[in-house]
Parts: sequence; C-alpha cells; structure tokens
Amino acid sequence: PSLTREGFTSIPDVTWEDVGGLDLLRSEFYDNIVAPLKYPDLAKKFGLDSKTGFLLYGPPGCGKTLIAKAVANEAGVNFIHIQGPELLNKYVGESELALRTIFSRARTCSPCILFFDEIDTITKDRGKDGGVVGDRLLNQLLIELDGGDRRKGVYVIAATNRPNTMDVAVLRPGRLGRLMYVPLPNRDERELILKALSRNKTLDADVDLGAFARSKACENLSGADLEDVIHIAATVAFKEAFTNYEEKSMLSSESYIDDMSYTIKAAHLELALRQ
Ligand code: ATP
Repeated sequence: PSLTREGFTSIPDVTWEDVGGLDLLRSEFYDNIVAPLKYPDLAKKFGLDSKTGFLLYGPPGCGKTLIAKAVANEAGVNFIHIQGPELLNKYVGESELALRTIFSRARTCSPCILFFDEIDTITKDRGKDGGVVGDRLLNQLLIELDGGDRRKGVYVIAATNRPNTMDVAVLRPGRLGRLMYVPLPNRDERELILKALSRNKTLDADVDLGAFARSKACENLSGADLEDVIHIAATVAFKEAFTNYEEKSMLSSESYIDDMSYTIKAAHLELALRQ
C-alpha cells in the first residue's frame, strides 16, 4: 500500500472491549494520553503536554497495534498508522521528506496519535547497520520528535519486536522515552483474549474458554495465534451450518437465525488448535 493509504487518518473502531488483558498498559495510557486530552485545561495547569513518546516492545502478535488503536478510540482522536519499512523503501532524500510530511499531516489533524509500527527499521544504530538512508531517517525522526511546541497535540506511539537494535538516542526522555513491555499472555490473559475475540461470535454452551486457555496446547500462543484458532474454528462451524442449511434450502428464510444446533463448539476449537 502507498504511504498515502498507510497514513490514512480516522478514529479507529477498536475499543478496549476488543483487547484481552493489558490493563496496566491501559491505565498508563489513560493517565498519559486520554486524560490530558479529555481535561486539557487541567493538564495545562500541571504543565503536561504531548511531548512524551511511547515505545511498545515485545514479541509479535501480542497487541501492540491493537492497544494503540484502542487508546485513540478512547480518546476520540485521529490515528495515523505508519509502517517503518514503507519509509525506508524510498530514494535517498525522499524518506526524510516523507517523514516530514507525516509529522506535518499529524499536526494538521491534531489532536492525534501517530503510530510507527516496526520502528526499529528506521532507528538502527547510527554508523553501524542503518545504512545511509537509515541514518538520515533517524536524524530526521529525532528532529521531529524534538519539535517542541510544533509537536503540540501529536502523541507518538511506536512499536517494535527488536528494541535492542535501536539507536539509544531515540529512547531518551522526550523522544520515545516511555518504554512499555507487551508480553506473551499468561493463561488468565489468554482466557481474556479468547473472550474478547469471541465477543461477537456464537459459542456453544459446551465451550469453556477458561479450560481451553489453560490447556497445554495453548501455552506460548500469542493473541494473534489465538485469533487464528478462533477464526479457523468459526470457519469450520460456519461450513457445517451452511452445508446443512443449503441442503434444507433454509437460507432464503431467516429461520436459521435462532437455531442453536449450529454454533462454535468445543470440538471445533480443539480441531483448530491442532491445525
Ligand atoms: P507485531 O509486533 O507483529 O506488529 P502486534 O503486537 O502489533 O504485532 P497486533 O497487530 O496488535 O500485534 O495483534 C494482531 C492481532 O492479534 C490483533 O488484531 C488481535 O486480533 C489479536 N490480538 C493480539 N493481542 C491481543 C489481545 N491482547 N487481545 C485481543 N486480541 C489480541
């Protein structure tokens, strides 16, 4: 996708109900982003502004992007989603210009959350493995992050799976100074994630998400893995249902809506887990 589409601006429809666990992160973001936007005059009284940047780090698929979107939704502000690698794949000079344009667009639609995914791709150790384009991009990013008053109303959240490859300069206070770890879920968190993921799906009464989350086969699964499991189970259950209804020519009427013989069953989840 092009940068224009990547940087498309809107308020995300992800809410905290879609997020399982991660309550501590939620409250951190409430204190630091949502509340200051909700009560700007009070925040001003304490001299608080949007200059703090946040770095979410941890294994892939554990909700970094999801959280950033939920924060924007809760605060009711625009969300600009930038992929680090997209910025790198430019001719020399174009990358910095693109970055300048992104920050300037963010200012135009502030208050907003500017989210950089895979930030490590544009913040590699200078002079080492960043390459010329990488080094220039990083310098430009530092200039933008240090933008002072120009950063007003632009909250920056970045995400990475590889924090240790990043140039430490970008982690200084005032830049991406607030580090937040987003871990692989434990079994209670897996249950909360499964609940969030199946919120709008019809589960059979025989499904015990708690027991499922505690099962050996679920150990070490990320939120993204669990989403995959739920999706596969739902697809199998759906196929059983429509095959049956097609045979009975029931799909033209809505008589199947209240029929509870076709739902996502424990067996579907077990099957999905084995795939
Ligand atoms: P990456 O590092 O690969 O970019 P990420 O940490 O940003 O991953 P997300 O993109 O937020 O991960 O998560 C991918 C998908 O996994 C989400 O869209 C969601 O469906 C599911 N997911 C991950 N974590 C959670 C969670 N805590 N609660 C609910 N769903 C989750």
